Amino acid sequence: MLVVRESSKLNCFAKPQILTSVHCPIVAQDVGSGWPEPPKKAESQMKIHEYQAKAILARYGVTTPRGEVAFTKEEAREAAQRLKAPVVVVKAQIHAGGRGKAGGVKLARSSDEAAELASQILGMTLVTPQTGPQGRVVRRLLIEEGLDIKRELYLGLLVDRETGRPVFMASAAGGMEIEEVAKDNPNAILREHIHPAVGLQPYQARKIAFGLGLSGELATVATPFLQALYRAFVDTDASMLEINPCVVTGDGKLVALDAKMTFDDNGLFRHKDLRELRDLDEEDPLEVEASKYGLNYIKLDGSVACMVNGAGLAMATMDIIKYAGGSPANFLDVGGGASAEQVKNAFRILLSDPEVRAVFINIFGGILRCDVLATGVVAAAKDLHVSIPVVVRMEGTNVERGQQILRESGLNFTIADGMKDGAQKVVALAGGAR
Ligand code: GDP
Ligand code: MN
Repeated sequence: MLVVRESSKLNCFAKPQILTSVHCPIVAQDVGSGWPEPPKKAESQMKIHEYQAKAILARYGVTTPRGEVAFTKEEAREAAQRLKAPVVVVKAQIHAGGRGKAGGVKLARSSDEAAELASQILGMTLVTPQTGPQGRVVRRLLIEEGLDIKRELYLGLLVDRETGRPVFMASAAGGMEIEEVAKDNPNAILREHIHPAVGLQPYQARKIAFGLGLSGELATVATPFLQALYRAFVDTDASMLEINPCVVTGDGKLVALDAKMTFDDNGLFRHKDLRELRDLDEEDPLEVEASKYGLNYIKLDGSVACMVNGAGLAMATMDIIKYAGGSPANFLDVGGGASAEQVKNAFRILLSDPEVRAVFINIFGGILRCDVLATGVVAAAKDLHVSIPVVVRMEGTNVERGQQILRESGLNFTIADGMKDGAQKVVALAGGAR
C-alpha cells in the first residue's frame, strides 16, 4: 500500500464536490458517520472489470465462481458449454455497478440461451446509478456458473484517510446498494480498522465473521477468505475492493459473486500487469486523449473551459469561476514545464468539448514562461479557428512579452487584470450563470 501521496496530482477529488467543499470520494470522515458519498468519478483511480478483479482475487485464494470472459455471442456459447453448469450467468462487464437492476445480469439454462442473452446484452447501453445518464456500452461479458445462493453479504476494503489505515467494512445486507444501507441503517455496517504493519489479524476476521452471523464451518473458512481479500488489496495498491455480494451457497461455501477493484494511480508504476488491464473504452475519450500528452485533464459539466498550470491553481481557478457564478467545464493542469505544443494540444482538447462557451487561461509563468504560453495559445487559436471568447490572465516570467504577443495576434483575446477580474469576465462571456 502506498502511504505517501503525490500532492501535485489530483488524487481524490470527485467531480462536483471539488467546488463546494474539497471532498474525497473515499474519505475518512464519512466512514465514521455513514457511508462515503459515492464517487461521481474517481479520476485517479484505475478501474478494472469484474472478471479481471476475480482473476486477481483467485490468485490470492479467494473463492470465485468458475467463469470466462466473452466478447462475442459465439464465445459466450462456447464458454457456457465448457462450464457444464445447469445454470450459467451472463454478466455485462462495464466499469460500474448496478448492472443487475439495469438488465445486465441474466441467468441462462442452456448454452443456446446463454448465446441468445449474450447477443442481447452485447452492444446494449446500460444505465445504472454509477454510469451517469449517458450509460455505458457493453463490449464484454462474463459467463459464469450459476450458484445456489443462501445469503448475500457485503464486504468492502478501502483506505480510511482519517486513521490512515485500511478499513474492512462488512454487512449482512449484501446485494443491495451499500450507500442505501448506510443511510437507513448505519449500524448494520461493521468496520474493522487494520494496522498496516500487522495486517488483518485472525481475531479481527473472526469478529467480522461473527458480526455477519457466520458460524461453525463458515466462520472457520471466513478467516482465510477475509485475509486473502486483505492481501490482494494491499499487494495491488488497491484503493477500493468491494465484494457485493459475497454469498453463502447452499453447500456452505463462501464465494465472491461480484468483485470491484480500483487502484491508486500513484502505485501503478510498480504494477505493470495491472496497467495492462486498463480498458480505454471505459474512459472519457477526451481524458484518454489528454493523457497521451501528459496533460492532467478531467472533464466536468460546466461551460467555462480552464487552462491552468499547477493543480493548486487549477483548483483555485475552478473555485473562483464558481464564485463568479459560472461553472467550470474541466480541470486542466498543463504542468509546470509545458511546451507550446502541449499548450496547443490542451487547447484542442478543451475546445472539443461541445459544452464549452468560453475559455479561461490562468497561468502563473514560472518555468512555463508567459511568452511561450502566449505563442502556443495564439498558434492554437489560429489553427483551430477558435470562435468562442478566450480570457487570459497571466502573471510571472515575461508577462509583458506574453501580453504583447496576445495583443498583436489579431485575435480577440480578453486580457484580465487578476484572477477575480478574469473569472468575472469569462463567466459573463460564457453567458452568465448556469
Ligand atoms: P451488480 O448489479 O452490477 O452489482 O452485479 P452483481 O454481480 O452484484 O449481480 C447482481 C445480482 O445478480 C446479484 O446480487 C445476485 O442476486 C444475482 N446473481 C449474480 N450471479 C448469480 C448466480 O450465480 N446465481 C444467482 N441465482 N444469482 C446471481
Ligand atoms: Mn454487485
